[in-house]
Amino acid sequence: MRKEFLNKLCCPIDKADLKTQIFLQDEEGQIIEALMTCPKCKRYYPVIYGIPIMTPDEFREKALEEPLLKKWGKLETLNLEDNQEKILELDS
Ligand SMILES: [Zn+2]
Repeated sequence: MRKEFLNKLCCPIDKADLKTQIFLQDEEGQIIEALMTCPKCKRYYPVIYGIPIMTPDEFREKALEEPLLKKWGKLETLNLEDNQEKILELDS
């Protein structure tokens, strides 16, 4: 997963440009772990083992993402419940 590729990704919900924070890269510059956040809807999309997790909120695996958010020091600022609350707001 290269940075140029990540830069092309946008939020699947509102198509806003995502802000990327890189946490782990290999010696070839491939991104292994990163966090992308949407400035518009405040959703977050982690990159885990080089794969961007951009599945719809209801299919997200909190158990898989939580240890990484913790490791990145983001657990306090981000959580999936926020994502789900946003969905409820959009539905109502
Ligand atoms: Zn968004």
